[in-house]
Amino acid sequence: MNRNELLTKNRWKVRYSYTCICDPTCWYAKNGRHTGTTYLNNGEQEQGTEAVAESLARFHRHEGVEVETVWQESDEERDARLKAQRRDEADAARGIWWGMGGAN
Ligand SMILES: [Zn+2]
Repeated sequence: MNRNELLTKNRWKVRYSYTCICDPTCWYAKNGRHTGTTYLNNGEQEQGTEAVAESLARFHRHEGVEVETVWQESDEERDARLKAQRRDEADAARGIWWGMGGAN
């Protein structure tokens, strides 16, 4: 798979929650739990929610991870992601250009 295919295909996402172990418990934790959303890689979605929860716990050092939803991006979500990415790249390119332009 080339880079463009990787970028433009609809990616899999996961919404999950995990135990807040902050001391004191942070104000934004709901019922003592944090929530997060991230992308899955390398076909993780096919390994089942338990495997996904384990990998999230290991990767982010979370405790008590519970997977809420696993879903594949809609075309709209994918387009929004790509748009944001292109904007970031454009900003970065402008930053470099400004940097090279000197102080005046
Ligand atoms: Zn917390």
